[in-house]
Amino acid sequence: MVLQRPGPAATSPLVVAERDVPTPGAGELRLRVTACGVCRTDLQICEGDLAARRLPIVPGHQVVGVVDALGPGVAGWAFGDRAGVTWLAGTDGTCRFCVTGRENLCEAATFTGWDRDGGYAEAAIVRAAYALPLAAAFPDLAAAPLLCGGVIGYRALRVAGIGPTSAGARLGLYGFGASARLALQVARAWGVDAYVATRAASERARALELGAAWAGGIDERPPSALDAAVTFAPVGSVVASALRALDRGGVVAINAIHLDRVPELPYEDLWWERSIRSVANVTREDAREFLALAARIGITTDVETHPLDAANTALARLAAGRVAGTAVLVVDPAVARG
Ligand SMILES: [Zn+2]
Ligand SMILES: [Zn+2]
Repeated sequence: MVLQRPGPAATSPLVVAERDVPTPGAGELRLRVTACGVCRTDLQICEGDLAARRLPIVPGHQVVGVVDALGPGVAGWAFGDRAGVTWLAGTDGTCRFCVTGRENLCEAATFTGWDRDGGYAEAAIVRAAYALPLAAAFPDLAAAPLLCGGVIGYRALRVAGIGPTSAGARLGLYGFGASARLALQVARAWGVDAYVATRAASERARALELGAAWAGGIDERPPSALDAAVTFAPVGSVVASALRALDRGGVVAINAIHLDRVPELPYEDLWWERSIRSVANVTREDAREFLALAARIGITTDVETHPLDAANTALARLAAGRVAGTAVLVVDPAVARG
């Protein structure tokens, strides 16, 4: 499913294309794709909110597949291995960010489904060093939402100062889509109390089922001041709501690659060393840490499935706010049967 020209999701911007099966180059793997998650970033690229870096492009950066060809010089992978692919498609490995453990900030980074063709396809070529082995604990459908929503949600928690030693901390989650559902489960595993702010009553109910201490509206003040908050909703106004809910010294981490704007803020809301940080991309280390933790805590994913050629339907449902959890494109029908 190829994006030739961005346009509103309702106008079906993706078109079916038939291409020759690609051959992996040096250091690359070819995956036979089995499933691919649909992320809000895919929607933003397809609609043009996030400017395309290359057209035509195959979107999709939560790719699950099986290695079916190896390029020259690939080590550590074998035919038939199961692999996952994230948003981070490659880095230079040499810049001052890469050499200090911050490859997510690499100025020469490339991204799956933005610079390189992604997983809305039957085959994908990926750099072997950026593919991730997948534990047997996760069937393909359950693994797909972890590869972006899960990993970026995990990084957002860490950027907000939440980690394994944060038991008893109060964390706000603003918006309750795919990524927030996974972040909530990680936070609960660390003993953190989660306060979920979201517009939809059905999402508040799901948050409480997954162990949230409180669920309310975006502009409601949670019952306790928060030590940290992560905003997932793709609108700037939630940043102001989250900031207002913070205790002294608290951090708001913004989990969004594209926001319309952040509204003007009264300085008193930021005073007392509160801070606002964005969350940019992920590192491979984030992905490895998160996938190991997710397997250990038995994380639950909420998915709705669509066949590959219905990718436009999945995007339109996401645009309309109708997807509860993650939409996943099922490329190999055997996957849907489990
Ligand atoms: Zn994504
Ligand atoms: Zn770099």
